[in-house]
Amino acid sequence: MVDSVGQFIQQLPDLLKALFLLAFPVVNPGNRLYWSYTLFTILVALGVYYLRESKSMGFDLRKALGYCFPKSLYTQRSAILDYQCYLINGLFKIIVSLTAFFTLSEITAHFLSQYLRGWFGPVESQLEVTLTLKVIYTILAVLVLDFSAFFSHYLLHKIPLLWEFHKVHHSAEGLNPMTGFRDHPVDVAFKQIFRALFLGVYMGIFSYCINQEIEAIAIAGLLISTFLLRFVINLRHSHIWISYGWHLNHIFNSPAMHQIHHSKKAEHIDKNFALIFSFWDYLFGTLYVPKVREYFAVGIEQKDYDNIWQLYFDPFVQAYRKVTNFLTQIPRLING
Ligand SMILES: [Zn+2]
Ligand SMILES: [Zn+2]
Repeated sequence: MVDSVGQFIQQLPDLLKALFLLAFPVVNPGNRLYWSYTLFTILVALGVYYLRESKSMGFDLRKALGYCFPKSLYTQRSAILDYQCYLINGLFKIIVSLTAFFTLSEITAHFLSQYLRGWFGPVESQLEVTLTLKVIYTILAVLVLDFSAFFSHYLLHKIPLLWEFHKVHHSAEGLNPMTGFRDHPVDVAFKQIFRALFLGVYMGIFSYCINQEIEAIAIAGLLISTFLLRFVINLRHSHIWISYGWHLNHIFNSPAMHQIHHSKKAEHIDKNFALIFSFWDYLFGTLYVPKVREYFAVGIEQKDYDNIWQLYFDPFVQAYRKVTNFLTQIPRLING
């Protein structure tokens, strides 16, 4: 008891630091709201206003800020739920440290490479870790991680039990950068475990092929891709339409394409699951590339949650109903 209290006190500075960074994400380089990403998002939004709206009337800063931050969008109930989710999920993340993610990847990689050695025998030669090998490793890792993000998102929509939890993200009735934090913890855990396993399998196979342990080689490369992604990720959840054009939209998932993913329109439902590369959607037949700017309402048929408690607990109730419904149907299915 005394030991655990001592350990708690020792960890307190870290805990206080984490709470401070949660309260002030603009000084946290690991957060998508870090000042440089936020500033970039605001500058892009101002640029869009300048190009699309201010041509006839000249540039007016008050109008520009009103265009970038419409009061009704940022003060509606849906947005308040986004802010509450940010805080509650942030506290969850502090408790469940991200180190679990790396450990799961490393354990998977270690056991898989051992099994591969057992099944196919050891690879005789050991490849030298050159810059080329690191670049190849990084490019493949980015593709593997992006596919895992796409595929876990696809399953969250297609498996009814998982949809009950992912629905929390889609219930937002207006998109603002904070909507990016509106995720149910079960949804987050599913994506993180999926991602860790995919990365682990990839690392295990790579480690077997080059005949040596991968000690986080080229992790810097992964950090670079996360860094670049953070510059555009806030625009995915915003009212500002940014499309990369017909051809590039087939390769990269533009902010406009994720906004379509949130649309209520029948032709947009279950489209554009991608995070970075939209060709995964093309391969799975779920790609929707807009030809021109489209206008649509966002959200789902069911109305948004009344309060934050309902947002966190209702998915469990709905999931429980689905499971019990399924279980009561089993005897009928068995007896034909
Ligand atoms: Zn979705
Ligand atoms: Zn979204």
